[in-house]
Amino acid sequence: MKKCQICNKGLLEKVEDIILEIEGYVFVVGGERCNKCSEEFPYEDEAQRTIAIARKLGVWPEPLKLYRHLSKSGGGLIFRIPSDLEKQLKLDENIGIAISKVGNKIVIEPEK
Ligand SMILES: [Zn+2]
Repeated sequence: MKKCQICNKGLLEKVEDIILEIEGYVFVVGGERCNKCSEEFPYEDEAQRTIAIARKLGVWPEPLKLYRHLSKSGGGLIFRIPSDLEKQLKLDENIGIAISKVGNKIVIEPEK
């Protein structure tokens, strides 16, 4: 079994119940899950198939993940919202956001 790249302690086990949630649509795909930190790694082909389905449904998986760096300002870390998301979610500087920590992820929800 492969070693987990995230925690470097656990081993990756084959699973068939990884939940991918995209814009409220829930997809179940196969992949591998770390037996220590529970980080999930969907199989590339299954993730691609899910993205194809999500595209047909008209949701936003393109790309499924955006990689960005944080910048530093005034002693704090700044996260810039990608402009395509800003447009799609109709965000502006007057919109409040709720930030929650889910496992090792940060979820940012604009207030409606
Ligand atoms: Zn791990």
